[in-house]
Amino acid sequence: TRRPMVAANWKMAGSLQLAEELIQKFSRLPDISPDVVLCPPSVYLDNIQSKLEAKASSLMGKNLTLGGQNLSHQEFGAYTGEISGTMLKEFGCKYVIIGHSERRRMYGETSDMVAEKFAMAQRCGLTPILCVGESLAAREANRTFEVLSGELDAVLDKCGIVAFDNAVLAYEPIWAIGTGKSATPEQAQEVHAFLRQRLSDLSPYEGEKIRILYGGSVKSSNAAELFNQPDVDGGLVGGASLNASEFVTLCRIAS
Ligand code: 13P
Repeated sequence: TRRPMVAANWKMAGSLQLAEELIQKFSRLPDISPDVVLCPPSVYLDNIQSKLEAKASSLMGKNLTLGGQNLSHQEFGAYTGEISGTMLKEFGCKYVIIGHSERRRMYGETSDMVAEKFAMAQRCGLTPILCVGESLAAREANRTFEVLSGELDAVLDKCGIVAFDNAVLAYEPIWAIGTGKSATPEQAQEVHAFLRQRLSDLSPYEGEKIRILYGGSVKSSNAAELFNQPDVDGGLVGGASLNASEFVTLCRIAS
């Protein structure tokens, strides 16, 4: 059985105040079962890591960890504005989001670059959360599976199926991100089953083991039906993770 996971992608939003509120709420919560990953803007990592350490005893049994939203595909050097995997690791990250559609579309990240970042994340001791997702145009042209396969294959070709032993996959249909219009549970399940099958074809063990998160307008009103799908192992949450009570509710729903 796969342990559920809920990851908060703050994107370029959130604040130290939000981190404070979240950690307060989590520390008062009884033990919950999902792995919870906070992915704030990287400038907040140091402060949030200290907050988590200060509350370590009341957070025991909560599996609350940190993740980055992106990393450089380079190890170190003259790359102004970039952040390395080693740095994320040094500031307490266990995970890093790779290939979010906003990075692919707005910052020109190709599937090859995404594959390089995936490999770099693992080399730095981080677990990549690899995002894949189709546009509305692709879905309407019945090209959903083709697009998803292409994004997945770029990483498989570079890193091999064994690399998926230490990875999380996230299905984020672009048309559902920030639109308030999530995929239906059936749409999510269909894609998650497809992605799992593709990995299972290469290694039944990895296919069965990998966690596949759904992302795109997840909120407390639709989370239960999405998370209840057999191949949906939790969520990657944007907007709803910026409200502490809403996010804590989502984590309880995933329990
Ligand atoms: P929303 O939850 O705001 O739709 O964003 C989803 C997302 O992109 C998470 O990575």
